[in-house]
Amino acid sequence: MSCLFCKIIAGEIPAEIKFENEEVIAFADINPQAPVHILIVPKSHVENAAELAAKSPVGLSALFAAADQLAIESGLTGYRTVFNTGADAGQSVFHAHLHLLGGRGLAWPPG
Ligand code: AMP
Ligand code: ZN
Repeated sequence: MSCLFCKIIAGEIPAEIKFENEEVIAFADINPQAPVHILIVPKSHVENAAELAAKSPVGLSALFAAADQLAIESGLTGYRTVFNTGADAGQSVFHAHLHLLGGRGLAWPPG
């Protein structure tokens, strides 16, 4: 298995786990871009959000439910959720993951 996030899911690589249930795992981003930066990851390996949506609409919605719960637990009054899809959009890990960002002012448009 060569996928970094599959290794984290399997417990082979340590991570700061914030939430876990049957479908998803959430852990702190190792290179945080905001005071709260959590990655919410489906446990089954899919390359990106579009593949997740096609294979498991329920799994996709589970990511957003976890994001909202984590945002509330983190005391955020607003937050941003982001999927990067493809290297041109900045995707560097090709196992779908939803970024949850908050705890500072977030500019729009993003960089
Ligand atoms: P993306 O660029 O959208 O594919 O996001 C990948 C994210 O994974 C980046 O924000 C990285 O900082 C983060 N990341 C890479 N390796 C690890 C790791 N071992 N534990 C936690 N987050 C990681
Ligand atoms: Zn994977």
